Amino acid sequence: MRALLLSSLLLLLLGGCVTSNPYTSRSQLMLIDKKEELKMGREASEEILKNSKKSSNMQATRRVMEVGTKIARVAEQSDFAWEFHLIEDPSINAFCLPGGKVFVYTGILTLVESDDELAVVMGHEIAHAIARHGAERLSVSMASELGRNLIGIALDMKQPQSKKLFDTAYGVGMNVGVMLPYSRTQELEADRIGLLLMKRAGYNPSAALTFWEKMRANQGGGKGSDFLSTHPSDSKRIEAIRQAIPSL
Ligand SMILES: [Zn+2]
Repeated sequence: MRALLLSSLLLLLLGGCVTSNPYTSRSQLMLIDKKEELKMGREASEEILKNSKKSSNMQATRRVMEVGTKIARVAEQSDFAWEFHLIEDPSINAFCLPGGKVFVYTGILTLVESDDELAVVMGHEIAHAIARHGAERLSVSMASELGRNLIGIALDMKQPQSKKLFDTAYGVGMNVGVMLPYSRTQELEADRIGLLLMKRAGYNPSAALTFWEKMRANQGGGKGSDFLSTHPSDSKRIEAIRQAIPSL
C-alpha cells in the first residue's frame, strides 16, 4: 500500500504537479488544474450568494468595493473575474475564492477601523487566492485521499464530500465543522504578498500591525470567529510583518 502510494505520488509529481509560487518562488504541490479551480470558485460563489443576505448598508458595501477594486487592479490576474460582496452576517470572516470572488462579512468590519485596515484584510485574502493556497491545501487533502486508495478522485462540487473538502481548503465559513488554519508558511506568504498589494494600491502597510494586534487580542473569540481560527495571529507573525514593511 505504501509503495503504491509513493509510486502514485511520484507519478503525479513527475506529471508537472509541483508549481513555483510567482511571488516567493516557493514550490507548491498542485494537483488541481487552474481552469478547474476557477470553475469551482464560480460555483462556490454562486452557492454562497444563493444562501446569504447581502448587506443593505450601501456605504459599507461601496467601501468594500472600492478597496477591493484598488487591490485587484494591482494584483494583475488576467484570468480573474473580480467580484466584491459584503454579506450581512455577524461572523468574523472574509475570504477570496479562486477567480477573485471576495466575500467580506459584516462581522469583521467591527474590527476594521480604517480603509487601510480593510485593505489589510482584503489584501491578505486576495493574496491567498493569487498564491493558490486553497488549491495547495486541496492538493494535500487529495494526496492523502489517494493514500486511502481513491485513485482518480475527481472533485464534483455537487457531491457533499467534495464540497466539504473545497470549503475547508478555501476557508469558506459555511457547512464546515472544523476550520483548518492555513499553515504558518501560507500565512506568512499571504501577509507578505498582501502588504505588497496594499502598498501598490496606495494603502498604508503599517495598518497590518494594528490589525493583527487586534486579532491577537481577540484570539479564542469562540463561535463565529472563522477568520480567527483560519488565521491565527501571534507575536511571531506580527514581528515578521514589522520586519517586512521597510523592504516593501
Ligand atoms: Zn490567511
